[in-house]
Amino acid sequence: LPRVVIVGRPNVGKSTLFNRLIGRRKAITHPRPGVTRDAVEETWELGGGRVLLVDTGGITSERGGIFEPLVRERALREVDRADVLLLVLDVTELVPEDEELLELLRPYKERLILVVNKVDNEAREEMAWNFFSLGFDTVCFTSAEHGRGIDELEQEIERRLVVPEGGGD
Ligand code: GDP
Repeated sequence: LPRVVIVGRPNVGKSTLFNRLIGRRKAITHPRPGVTRDAVEETWELGGGRVLLVDTGGITSERGGIFEPLVRERALREVDRADVLLLVLDVTELVPEDEELLELLRPYKERLILVVNKVDNEAREEMAWNFFSLGFDTVCFTSAEHGRGIDELEQEIERRLVVPEGGGD
């Protein structure tokens, strides 16, 4: 199955987004940052097909963060296997750990969708436009908690998974 992999530092809303996309509660959300948990994966019905939705969860968390060798190795293995990567950021705060992830994942740009989460209202939407300056082609605004922007994100993921007609070599 194609793999759609959610990455991001702790507390940006990855598991809330995972639950929202899956449409039923499966992963556990943590109000406290830095809580380790294992990667969670679920088969997800998207459009006409099935994909595997993976929340990398704890693998990008902990004090050493993504640059702790073991953590980094596990995270990169997930990233390498991904068909679509959702890099989740929190519209209310972009911190150095986000910048590190952005640089680490820049080589995977082609398969990456930048998900600016916690865009709960219009004021936050104004702030979200700034994230286009990070240099990624596809940026989606979501409020995982309130269900905003989820349809658009799903359409974008579907678009990425469709093999272009006459494409390939
Ligand atoms: P994770 O560590 O990245 O998996 O983040 P969680 O999904 O556990 O969410 C962290 C916190 O952010 C929780 O308190 C969530 O309720 C909150 N949160 C998640 N999505 C949103 C959102 O769209 N808007 C707001 N305001 N809060 C959110």
